Amino acid sequence: MEHYAAPINHLIEELSKLPGIGRKTAQRLAFHILDMKGDQVVRLAQSIVDAKKLIKFCSNCGNMTDKDPCSICGNVKRDKSMICVVEDSRDVAAMERIKEFHGYYHVLHGTISPMDGIGPDEINIKGLITRLNNDVKEVILATNPTIEGEATAMYIARLINPMGIRVTRLAHGIPVGGDIEYADEVTLVKALEGRTQL
Ligand code: ZN
Repeated sequence: MEHYAAPINHLIEELSKLPGIGRKTAQRLAFHILDMKGDQVVRLAQSIVDAKKLIKFCSNCGNMTDKDPCSICGNVKRDKSMICVVEDSRDVAAMERIKEFHGYYHVLHGTISPMDGIGPDEINIKGLITRLNNDVKEVILATNPTIEGEATAMYIARLINPMGIRVTRLAHGIPVGGDIEYADEVTLVKALEGRTQL
């Protein structure tokens, strides 16, 4: 580390704090950035600052957005009888990519995880319940097929079932322990088609 000038060390240090970036990769990225043209570096830095400044959570569904309500909640042409519940905004993007689901979303921002001290009140479940009006006929629970994802789905199903709304869960296709965000499109379509009532 001491072989580099202080500003280079600082850049390497900051980059290595990013997920999946080890020391070596951070070093490679730092030198790549130093090789870039000045205006390219400014654009990169500005895009990070802008994204952080402009992105907020939709007050209706919790999705990341630069306007409130988000473009999905603001689209009156979508099917208001269905709400698909996901763990985070990346799952909304994954579902949108398959173009098979035309309802609305609800983003939980995590899962219930007693081991980590995350109870039902720590994630966006209350917001979901307040959205369940007479128009909503089905809630699709598309949390990841992990222990926490399953437990969260079961918890929400128990809350909603007495309200007489159909509660379904993505079924086939997504591997156990897998991540919806990384599922290929065919797998995700199959999972959506094969959803089961809870
Ligand atoms: Zn929204």
